[in-house]
Amino acid sequence: MREGLLPYLRCPVCQERLSLAPDTHEGPHVMTGRLLCAAGQHAFPISGGVPRLLAHPLPPDMEHTSRNFGQSWRLWNQIDDERYRWQFLRWVQPLQPADFSDRSVLDMGCGKGRHLRVAAQFGARDVVGVDLSEAVDVAFANTRDLEHAHVVQGDIFHLPVVSDFDLAFSIGVLHHTPDPAQAFAVLANHVRPGGTVACWVYGRENNGWIIHAVDPVRIGITSRLPSKVVQALSYGLTSVLFASIGCVYQPVEKLGFKPFYADYMKYLRDLGFAETLNIVYDHLIAPTAAYVPRAEVERWFATAAIDAPTLTWVQKVSWAGVGKKPAA
Ligand SMILES: [Zn+2]
Repeated sequence: MREGLLPYLRCPVCQERLSLAPDTHEGPHVMTGRLLCAAGQHAFPISGGVPRLLAHPLPPDMEHTSRNFGQSWRLWNQIDDERYRWQFLRWVQPLQPADFSDRSVLDMGCGKGRHLRVAAQFGARDVVGVDLSEAVDVAFANTRDLEHAHVVQGDIFHLPVVSDFDLAFSIGVLHHTPDPAQAFAVLANHVRPGGTVACWVYGRENNGWIIHAVDPVRIGITSRLPSKVVQALSYGLTSVLFASIGCVYQPVEKLGFKPFYADYMKYLRDLGFAETLNIVYDHLIAPTAAYVPRAEVERWFATAAIDAPTLTWVQKVSWAGVGKKPAA
């Protein structure tokens, strides 16, 4: 970690400030050491350059989710800045790069750190990524060259950071927690009055077939299989998917029809095989996945006293929500 991260950190137990006792350095990074809370009762290690601010035992479903996604991000650890910028701007629409400029930004559930890179490149004053899983090691490796990008290992439900970020986002994460509404409330609670909250979640609309056909297989079988087996399955399924895009979707669309899922298929084609493979793999390994109807996303924002958020139906399969907290 860089010392510039310290002012953003809080004890996950008592929310007090932390002080830094560094042990070893590499360049600007404290690689090992300890963080001690002002109350004097809680201490946390820094290892591999990442503060490990975990203090509470995880329920079994969160532990399972964390293990599987940690593995996923280690497997698909590639960085493709241009593609990720394009993808990110769809998920946080209508936000623009200028909305990140000189802002303090929180990425709740940062995975391999791809959006930390994007926010830092958009000129964020600082962007702090928190993730529960061992993906933080990948995120640290992927962002250690960026002066204003930071990575912390922590639990959304005991978030170890300050509560007055200018902008907080959570992309593709809330629906994998045991309580998406509560996770959204945490996100909103870590933004200052007048600040911006953005989230992207799987939608319920158009995804009934996943809930009825894929979910039972995912929950009962594939989320429990060894990673190698799921990787092989994902290659097979992604190949079939791309064959059907080329042999069915494109010809049918050329004839002027718009088949079910056409927007999403076009998106996957633009995204390319490797990224789609990652998406398919994630759909097979997630022990917990909620598909959220528009009305529920609206309720989350209303509960956080955010009026008139912009909700966008992204590719007709998911919801992007962005809103401003009322000024104090
Ligand atoms: Zn403490």
